Amino acid sequence: MSVLEKIGSKEAMALEEKFGAQNYHPLPVVLSRGEGVFVWDVEGNKYYDFLSAYSAVNQGHCHPKIIGALKNQAEKLTLTSRAFYNDILGIYEKYMTSYFGFDKVLPMNTGAEAVETAMKLARKWGYEKKGIPSNKARIIVCQNNFHGRTISIISASNDPSATENFGPFTPGITSIRYNDLDALREVLEDNNVAAFLVEPIQGEAGVYVPDEGYLEQAYALCKSRDVLFMADEVQTGIARTGRLLATCGNCSCPEKNCSGTPRVKPDVLILGKAISGGVFPVSAVLANADIMDVIRPGNHGSTFGGNPLACAVAMAALEVVKEERLAENAHYLGEIFRKEMSQLIKDSTLVRLVRGKGLLNAIVINDEEESSTAWDICMALKENGLLAKPTHGNIIRFAPPLIMTEEQLLDCVGLIRKTILEFERENA
Ligand SMILES: *Cc1c(COP(=O)(O)O)cnc(C)c1O
Repeated sequence: MSVLEKIGSKEAMALEEKFGAQNYHPLPVVLSRGEGVFVWDVEGNKYYDFLSAYSAVNQGHCHPKIIGALKNQAEKLTLTSRAFYNDILGIYEKYMTSYFGFDKVLPMNTGAEAVETAMKLARKWGYEKKGIPSNKARIIVCQNNFHGRTISIISASNDPSATENFGPFTPGITSIRYNDLDALREVLEDNNVAAFLVEPIQGEAGVYVPDEGYLEQAYALCKSRDVLFMADEVQTGIARTGRLLATCGNCSCPEKNCSGTPRVKPDVLILGKAISGGVFPVSAVLANADIMDVIRPGNHGSTFGGNPLACAVAMAALEVVKEERLAENAHYLGEIFRKEMSQLIKDSTLVRLVRGKGLLNAIVINDEEESSTAWDICMALKENGLLAKPTHGNIIRFAPPLIMTEEQLLDCVGLIRKTILEFERENA
């Protein structure tokens, strides 16, 4: 029997159950193919993907331009490590820095690695540039954050399932309330604070959008205290929220290359997920030279970080964002989506509210946070041909690929509406 012989859903799930670590609780659907906004399971059923691999597949599944770049580069050179130069990393670094408007980029692979890199950068900057006494640097984070799964990052988490029995934790991290400027002002009184690490919208927490002006004022507070403002845009970046970056103001970056007025220009920008269109793990930390230059040879690294395949894939994926005007499309479709969901809220007692920006949205269900209602609705959505995942017992995130058409979106709105109203009738 060939190892890659075709298997059915039940068998595939049983294999994962038996041989895989049980660190996830997937929806019971086994996918074998993706194209654009659609995925197919092993039985051939077709679904709209309303998760996009946690916003990694903003450009749609198997985008031909990105896959083309992958194939082309894969036949030439895949990995040199950083022990030697290669002929694409410099081109990629020039491309990335001009695309996002920073002097320098540090290439890594996963989102968690990029966040870790930013934390290390902040500490080193704190000691060498700000003059924080040795081993006293603090990093401020927000409650209910999600920045990844390494030990230092979960040291910043207050989610018991992420932290319980994983201690001892990394010191020097202080958590304050999200969207609370007074809490930030207070904690910044300490001169030993090196950085404030924040998600412009808290995705995993359930798509929490902070108040208008929060990011600008938080940024101003950081500036007044010589503290780095570090934006984790691993999920919100790359056009997801209707702009190239959620920290960007009215600048329609993809077209104008960030020449407009940014809402906030983070000192340190952390990107991952959709930089590669979900094709390959690519992450990055961007900063200007006065900050990034504290990192010297030998201080930090990654065997795969900035590898030729990653560079080729990421440049193609970012070209797609520009060429297909994904930020504009996400903005346009997001307005329609929230309007349609608001109408559903009027017609249904089950859905309490909708929130989000661009195509990063969530609905909150009228039930306890510990309930299984959101899961049960996701199961019903699956039966009707749409895949989404709860972020909590009562919150469902909706984040389709940004290449979606208006017609497809309205089709999906119809599916969601039908499913929720049916669910409500059956469970009344
Ligand atoms: C997904 C995510 C991460 C972690 O990325 P990984 O590639 O899973 O390590 C970090 N920050 C945010 C905001 C994320 O959504």
